Amino acid sequence: MAGDGAPGRPGLLARLWARLTGHGSGVDTPGPTSPTEPVGASSPTQLVETPAAPDGQEPADQSDPASHHVVLTERTPAGGEPPNEPVWATGADLPGWHQPPRLEGEVHADLCVIGLGGSGLAAVAEALDAGQTVVGIDAGPIAGRAAGRNGGFLLAGTALFHHDAVRRYGRERALAWYRGTVEEIERMAAADPEVRQVGSVRLAIDDQEAADVERQLAVMRDDGLAVEAFDPTAPDAGVGAAVAEDAVGLLVPDDAMANPLARCRRLAARCVDAGAQLFTDSPATTVSGNRVTTPDGVVHCDAVVVAVDGVLGAILPELAPRVRPVRLQMLGTEPTDEVTVPRPVYARWGLDYWSQAPDGRIALGGGRDQGGDEEEAARPEPSEPVQDHLETLLRERIGVTAPISHRWAATVGFTPSGLPLCEQVRPGVWAIGGYSGTGNVIGAMLGRIAVELAVTGSSDRADLLFDT
Ligand SMILES: Cc1cc2nc3c(=O)[nH]c(=O)nc-3n(C[C@H](O)[C@H](O)[C@H](O)COP(=O)(O)OP(=O)(O)OC[C@H]3O[C@@H](n4cnc5c(N)ncnc54)[C@H](O)[C@@H]3O)c2cc1C
Repeated sequence: MAGDGAPGRPGLLARLWARLTGHGSGVDTPGPTSPTEPVGASSPTQLVETPAAPDGQEPADQSDPASHHVVLTERTPAGGEPPNEPVWATGADLPGWHQPPRLEGEVHADLCVIGLGGSGLAAVAEALDAGQTVVGIDAGPIAGRAAGRNGGFLLAGTALFHHDAVRRYGRERALAWYRGTVEEIERMAAADPEVRQVGSVRLAIDDQEAADVERQLAVMRDDGLAVEAFDPTAPDAGVGAAVAEDAVGLLVPDDAMANPLARCRRLAARCVDAGAQLFTDSPATTVSGNRVTTPDGVVHCDAVVVAVDGVLGAILPELAPRVRPVRLQMLGTEPTDEVTVPRPVYARWGLDYWSQAPDGRIALGGGRDQGGDEEEAARPEPSEPVQDHLETLLRERIGVTAPISHRWAATVGFTPSGLPLCEQVRPGVWAIGGYSGTGNVIGAMLGRIAVELAVTGSSDRADLLFDT
């Protein structure tokens, strides 16, 4: 419930969180990074084929050198650890749904889209709307990576809170990102009745964050953006059971929520119905502006959009220094009525986040800072420190005792500035990605802008968003 009280002093909450995290809070927004080493810069690039994974699962990267992580083994009762599968798979069995086939042989299209997560599918849909013929290929299943394995939050703005974005990118640019993403959310909601425009809540966990919530409120109000002070201690606040008496927050009404895997599958089905040729289990092995190869096929085209976010550097090594792969993790519970969480919630500077699906399941993610360097370029599998953090948060902070049915991870791309990229990296090859952990909306928006650029050669929106 939205309140209008001034932020208070969330000491209790902070103490609980400090106990959960083992230390005080700290801002962990995208910042200067250690660039990933480029693995080559020739064009076209020869790629290593990723083994296909079962439907909805992320293929393990066997070649990843950073695989010395702790894989969960002990916490699970008899019956074994849940498979590395998102809770969303339980609600994504659409009538008549089947994965598109593997690409075999030669196909022709105006545009080839590489990567069929939310961003690539938005590009496919946009190209169809523009009258283009489209081929889309994915190394695994539709939305088998981060797009089908994330929190499902559809958030306006960049990876930075709006007031931080204003400070970092300037007011005009920050507003262009904010307004563009609000439009994108509205577009998503209009296209898909399962997208619930319920808003989102930011919770502050200590005095420092409470002051930051106040700053965010003030800047967003100054900029005419929809935002409300929010009282998380109200009886029907819907943020969990164990909120401290002096907690504070804000509510962003424009934000939305959806089962991300089901949403992508519905979008893919619509694209196929509209004439797109989609292929799964078909990794791009070489990429140039008029020819993309897979192990058993070739796509001849006039332009290419590469929409692979966290693995951009593997397909286009020239981007490896600019987009670093980071692992993010979540867990999900059996359906429960112990709490009612009607809208997505994020806390601790956005490092922890949770929501409740219509069937009552809690999906809880975050704790990236609890895994340390382990979460950088790591295999996309749940690890013990992060899952322990999430489990403690679930039990002690959100107040849910329901059994944990799912634990999962996926890789996303982070950039030093927090802004994603959208640019022509080779003649006729447009790359998008580097959403710094919040790509559901931005990725779709950039997927559509990349198509506009590839088809027409220019985009007014791109000029507003980027230094061009
Ligand atoms: C645990 C977690 C929680 C998150 N929560 C949120 C959230 O609540 N809200 C939000 O906005 N964002 C969230 N994110 C980030 C969000 O998931 C990503 O930013 C977004 O999914 C990026 O979508 P994408 O389509 O660009 O990339 P991806 O989803 O990574 O899809 C890329 C696709 O490219 C394919 N591919 C890779 N290599 C090749 C190849 N060689 N050839 C062909 N295809 C290839 C992959 O198989 C994959 O299907 C979260 C991420 C994670 C992991």
